[in-house]
Amino acid sequence: MALDLTKKEKTLVLIKPDGLQRSLVGEIIHRYERTGLKLVALKMVVPQPETVEKHYNVDPQWRLKNGTKTIDAYKAKGKTPPTTDPIEMSGMTLKKLIKYISSGPVIAMIWQGMHAVGVVRKITGSTEPLTSDVGTIRGDLTIDSYEISDIDGRSVRNLIHASGSPEEAEAEIKLWFSPEEILSYRLIQDEILYDVNLDGILE
Ligand code: GDP
Repeated sequence: MALDLTKKEKTLVLIKPDGLQRSLVGEIIHRYERTGLKLVALKMVVPQPETVEKHYNVDPQWRLKNGTKTIDAYKAKGKTPPTTDPIEMSGMTLKKLIKYISSGPVIAMIWQGMHAVGVVRKITGSTEPLTSDVGTIRGDLTIDSYEISDIDGRSVRNLIHASGSPEEAEAEIKLWFSPEEILSYRLIQDEILYDVNLDGILE
């Protein structure tokens, strides 16, 4: 991951329809906000299925990586995957994700600051709520698992999408926001987080 020396690294966060339906919008924003990251864009939309499809294809490797990860996860649990072709596997996953994420309003946000991608991923937790760490959004605020979601033939409901790398964030931000929707402004706390000398405190 490239280190963003401008300290203006950006990441895209979506609060998925289950997050909104569970009335967790305020709690989720609070968790990101208190880190010191800066909210530079926010809106509520009902995503078009085409937007969700494009979203998961901004990384040309996503289909292969996601399919391989899912097949390996089935095998690790001693289960037979529905297919051994990673592209076919991620195609099945994508269909469910499109249905899930376009099912109702979502909140789309851009958070900015040093290590924005890593900080947001850490607070969000790993993909499956059942095995996400305690203290993370997915670990604390919901209860779903691959086992149950596979039985029900749906996506795992994990409240959030968060970009996986600064490059992915850049591509995803272009898909969800126009440049005018992204604000550039100063926060008083920026000085405490980023000022090298901390020489503005004492009177
Ligand atoms: P993220 O970066 O945390 O959103 O996770 P990924 O991009 O790796 O996965 C995207 C989606 O693929 C998840 O939200 C799940 O719906 C699905 N997925 C990923 N890994 C697995 C798995 O091992 N089993 C199943 N059933 N679905 C998976």
